[in-house]
Amino acid sequence: MPTGALTIVGLGPGNPDQMTPEAAAAIAAAEHFFGYFPYLDRLSLRPEQRRHASDNREELARAKAALAMAAQGGKVCVVSGGDPGVFAMAAAVCEAIEEGPPEWRSINLEVIPGVTAMLAVAAKAGAPLGHDFCAISLSNNLKPWEVIEKRITAAAQAGFVMAFYNPVSKARPHQLGEALELLRRHLPADVPVIFGRAAGRPDEVIRVISLAEAASGMADMATCIIVGSVETRVIPREGDEPLVYSPRSYKGGSA
Ligand code: SAH
Repeated sequence: MPTGALTIVGLGPGNPDQMTPEAAAAIAAAEHFFGYFPYLDRLSLRPEQRRHASDNREELARAKAALAMAAQGGKVCVVSGGDPGVFAMAAAVCEAIEEGPPEWRSINLEVIPGVTAMLAVAAKAGAPLGHDFCAISLSNNLKPWEVIEKRITAAAQAGFVMAFYNPVSKARPHQLGEALELLRRHLPADVPVIFGRAAGRPDEVIRVISLAEAASGMADMATCIIVGSVETRVIPREGDEPLVYSPRSYKGGSA
């Protein structure tokens, strides 16, 4: 029985300098690459390295195809943007293994972490994730919108800074507006909101605005939004975006 290998690699947010050397080495060592095609486009592959590009909505099918090839003895790499364990392929591969044939459990599996979007955005703004925070995907493709609303409300009431992934898409134009409305019910109007678009890429835009002024039109699919807590501070700077940070010590503010 050939024993292949499956490596799930996080490419980071887009800046090649933010890809880890471990990820680069895993890419150099693999023969077959599975992933959403814009992520595969980021790789500079050798001619003998093969691409198996697919659409973004086909995560489980892609995971199964990659596992089947690794079970045949292939050196397979599945790529994700950012970190593969954050709203990405590593969970899809685990799910496929759990549901799949027993031999998939003996595939040599490795998950290589990457810099996830919220960390890239947070670093550009200062230290908004300096205290307790959570990450929520606003996509209701894979979970009901009521669950998302419940989690946003609970996180706001508990005083977490929140990072929103997948804030909008063409199929879901209204959700971010609804999420912001919900936040305005639970948090003060001056809580800072960071819209971090395409962090680490040439078209990066980082914008800091108050919750009162935040609007859904400020985000697209390439945006990660960080919503501060009542503890989060804003330091204005001449000719630059303000510095945003959440202090290490809890001062007792509450929503
Ligand atoms: N695994 C990825 C997240 C995939 S979900 C990671 O760890 O970053 C896709 C969402 O990630 C996008 O809708 C957006 O919210 C966010 N995202 C990915 N790359 C980004 C970047 N360079 N800048 C800002 N947000 C980004």
